[in-house]
Amino acid sequence: MPPGFLFSSRTDSNNTFSSNTFSSNTDTNQEEITMSEYSFSAKAIRAGYESSEHFNSVVPPIYQTASFDLQDIDRTRRLWTGAEAGGIYSRVGTPTGSILETRIAELDGGKAAVALSSGMAAITYTLLLLAQGGGNIVAGSSLYGAAQLDLAEFLPRYGVDTRFVKDRTNPAAYGELIDENTRAVYLESISNPNIELYDIDAIAKIAHEHGVPVVVDNTVATPYLYRPFEHGADIIVYSATKEINGHGNVIAGIVVEKGDFPFDEKKYPQFYEKSWKMRDLQNNKRSAVEFIPGAPVIASLKIFFTEFFGGALGSFESYLVLQGLSTLSVRLDKKVQTVRKVVEFLESRDEVEFVRYPYAKGSQFKELADRDFPKGPGALLSFGFKGTREQEGIFIKSLKNFNYHVNIGDVRSLITNPPENTHTELEPDQLALADVPKNLIRLSIGLEDAEDLISDLSQAFEKAFA
Ligand SMILES: *Cc1c(COP(=O)(O)O)cnc(C)c1O
Repeated sequence: MPPGFLFSSRTDSNNTFSSNTFSSNTDTNQEEITMSEYSFSAKAIRAGYESSEHFNSVVPPIYQTASFDLQDIDRTRRLWTGAEAGGIYSRVGTPTGSILETRIAELDGGKAAVALSSGMAAITYTLLLLAQGGGNIVAGSSLYGAAQLDLAEFLPRYGVDTRFVKDRTNPAAYGELIDENTRAVYLESISNPNIELYDIDAIAKIAHEHGVPVVVDNTVATPYLYRPFEHGADIIVYSATKEINGHGNVIAGIVVEKGDFPFDEKKYPQFYEKSWKMRDLQNNKRSAVEFIPGAPVIASLKIFFTEFFGGALGSFESYLVLQGLSTLSVRLDKKVQTVRKVVEFLESRDEVEFVRYPYAKGSQFKELADRDFPKGPGALLSFGFKGTREQEGIFIKSLKNFNYHVNIGDVRSLITNPPENTHTELEPDQLALADVPKNLIRLSIGLEDAEDLISDLSQAFEKAFA
């Protein structure tokens, strides 16, 4: 069955992107500037899209179709072998999704990407693929709730176990848990809900000494605030539901592969087995490392996972994420300013036991934030509420500028109490390990002005403690 869209391999000879270049705006015969030389915001608006390939539509169109005409039997053969990029069947990819894939790969400096129907699909597919057949994962022990439970209880049913690193801020602790069956190290660049940071450069160095790739969930940071490949990561996973899309109106996930990890053939036979499904035009079977050289993870996810599990991102969702992505830098520039003011405000309140943000007073993560997050360590913060459960209820209910729900990275500011929702699946010992105390409240800062958020929090504290 179909290979689908392979546009997003950045160096695939067929599809080297004329779309990735645009001429500088002078009428002289100046050399073309490649997309890679542009700044983040220009890439976020243009990378991967050439309007002349889409009836000159300025905005990437939505291809709301299950299937694409194959035209003739020779073209069919080219499509099936990846010799020609084009639509086949939307379960395995759409043209709008492939624009998003190229754009994110460009923003992260990766070789190829695949857009999937959720962040959890991105995480589960990637880890299942890497550790298939009895491998283990070494992971940080404070993860997004569903990811933590996925690794602790769901993936083991399929033969993939996880060793959670207790002392997760200590890079050496990761090395101690890696053994000959370890197939990936997994962690978040900014952890949710505790806003912890990790020395990924140091952790990657240790993982690489063991021949193990590092998978980083970069959801909270986004490629605007942190580029994991520049810190040693090999694969990035995103929930694009969050800040990348940024408007709270879509569920989406993305996997990006850097493209230079030397997968050992004995440890990762899945990337070296030749498959008829990856055959070339002359009917020679190929392996994943041959199908997209340098990006066997993305090749496998596209050829096997979207084919057999489904879950490629739909065209409409891809369109929404592309639209949101185009304003990512301005949204985050404002939010990282606002979050600092909210942190200061919370620190001034008696009702607050502690504040978790790398620039909160006494945070152990300030140094890493200064080193690795020059544009700011994200727009999430959490704090300890110093009242009773009843007072916490009044506080949350009294807020007007914070929606109470489980999403993050929206234009609206959001509030949630992780122990009772996002992390409620975790058993008490898992909660303790993840350092999610009973009174933890998480704020996701939106685009409202800081004064509105602060006065809102202030009046809600007054009501709760009246
Ligand atoms: C939300 C989230 C996910 C899961 O993404 P979905 O799109 O909801 O499946 C994974 N990681 C982090 C850090 C998240 O915040």
